[in-house]
Amino acid sequence: MNIILIGPPGVGKGTQAKFLVEAYNIPQISTGDMLRANVRESTPLGNEAKQFMNAGQLVPDSVILGMMESRFNDSDCKSGYILDGFPRTIPQAEGLDNLLNNMGQQIDSVIVLDVNHEEIVKRLSSRWSCKECDTVYNLLFDPPTSEGICDKCEGALYQRDDDKTKTIRQRLEVYSRQTSPLIDFYIQKGLVETIDGAGKIDDVKERIFSVLS
Ligand code: AMP
Repeated sequence: MNIILIGPPGVGKGTQAKFLVEAYNIPQISTGDMLRANVRESTPLGNEAKQFMNAGQLVPDSVILGMMESRFNDSDCKSGYILDGFPRTIPQAEGLDNLLNNMGQQIDSVIVLDVNHEEIVKRLSSRWSCKECDTVYNLLFDPPTSEGICDKCEGALYQRDDDKTKTIRQRLEVYSRQTSPLIDFYIQKGLVETIDGAGKIDDVKERIFSVLS
């Protein structure tokens, strides 16, 4: 099963991807997580990506496509994957088509998660992430047991630079301009299921599983 999750930042793609990982036993591939790991380790790719990420801009398509080409070669991708945060532009979607053709694969479903942008600003400005393992908490809906400490690994929690209000608005603007055209791209291929991403996490999960089954 090869699934793409599309939606604005903070809509819950990462949260919902985890449920799909469990159900289908395939990896979640989050380009945001991969880039943050590179930034943390100060790799050349991370150093190049950092400036774009902190400004709420997209990292260049060529960098992302190179990173994904090598990720698809990993053995855990053999039975499928959930793409979370990729593709994010039409050139990335076209690049993905080429990679898939070369691998003799195709996308089975594109899930578009939809939530209004004001709700997203509220969600993201209360989002904190673990420095060590990237687990995400929301101080309003899903707080950690002890303030500032990750429940899973006891790492310190921090607010991502790009989750500050000004950068959130910039990222939403980038989403509307560069990423939302992808929805039409995949509608034309007959692959899109649009899901209301508002409300409780479990309700959104149910909506997603009902269109996939
Ligand atoms: P995310 O965690 O998916 O919200 O991504 C955080 C940041 O990483 C984005 O604001 C971009 O700067 C960068 N990023 C992640 N995925 C991509 C992508 N597919 N194309 C370009 N930039 C990306």
